[in-house]
Amino acid sequence: MNILLYFSLGASIASFLGLVVDRFPERSIVLPASHCDHCHSRLGISEMIPILSQVYYGSRCKHCKHAIPKRYMVIEAICGILFVLFGLGQMQLTTLLLLLMSLTLALYDLDQQEYPVFVWLVFTSLLLLFAHSYSLFAVLCLFGILAYMFPLKIGSGDFFYLASLSLIMDKMSILWIIQIGSWLGIITILSRKQKRTPIAFVPFLAAGFVLVLLMQRLGLFL
Ligand SMILES: [Zn+2]
Repeated sequence: MNILLYFSLGASIASFLGLVVDRFPERSIVLPASHCDHCHSRLGISEMIPILSQVYYGSRCKHCKHAIPKRYMVIEAICGILFVLFGLGQMQLTTLLLLLMSLTLALYDLDQQEYPVFVWLVFTSLLLLFAHSYSLFAVLCLFGILAYMFPLKIGSGDFFYLASLSLIMDKMSILWIIQIGSWLGIITILSRKQKRTPIAFVPFLAAGFVLVLLMQRLGLFL
């Protein structure tokens, strides 16, 4: 029963984060109430239950049948599983926070090639409460400011994201995250036709972070 509770809590938080990514900062996250972006019909209770509503209505709006991206359902399922792992004592609160931050910033970066500083600040303020060392955080934030002032190949948002990870992850892990993220980014650029179009890098760093977590869990060389 507890597992169900943790899963629905995680799925509901993911649903809220999806709304934040869709609306903030251009629009209010409170008003108007949840509605279909295509026909603007206000969503009823039966259309707002994470995952189940999308399965029941076949990922389409109940009123106009316009397709709803399946990514919402996938994100809700992922967060549901993360909360279950946390609830079962298989994941620390700091890791859960880092993963939620990674998911949110990666979605922003994919959509807009940037993310709002306020969203980064909310997650980072919470992580600061649990940090043991702030030196790498300070250095990476400084790089972020420099990258903002003098545009480089790597964006300031990438440095700020790494800075937040460094509050919990050790130096070697951060180096591995950068290394794996770069490999994944290079493979993606090489496999695309338009090689000069900039890519969102936070999703690759986030993938590197997840892989490092998995390797640590499996006791592989980290
Ligand atoms: Zn609709």
